Amino acid sequence: MIYIDPLMIHPVMDGVWHHARLAGIPDPGEAITMLCGVTGVAAFLPLSQRRHSTIPRQCERCDAIVRQQRGIPLRQNRTGRN
Ligand SMILES: [Zn+2]
Repeated sequence: MIYIDPLMIHPVMDGVWHHARLAGIPDPGEAITMLCGVTGVAAFLPLSQRRHSTIPRQCERCDAIVRQQRGIPLRQNRTGRN
C-alpha cells in the first residue's frame, strides 16, 4: 500500500506552488482551490514533461496562511525590506 498525505500535495500553477487543503488525492480534471483562493484544475504530469519548466517558487500568500495556521512566525526578511 502506498500512502499519500493530501496535505503534502503542493499544486504548481504557472511556476508557483501553492498549498491546498485536500480531503483526498484529486482526480485529474478536478478543480482545486488553493489556500490563497486561486483555483486550478488538477493534472498529473510525468517528470519528463516538467523538465523544461523552471523551478517553482512558493506562493507567498499560501505560505503566510500555512504559517499562521501552524503558529510559525512569518519570515521577517521576506516581508520587511524587500
Ligand atoms: Zn497560493
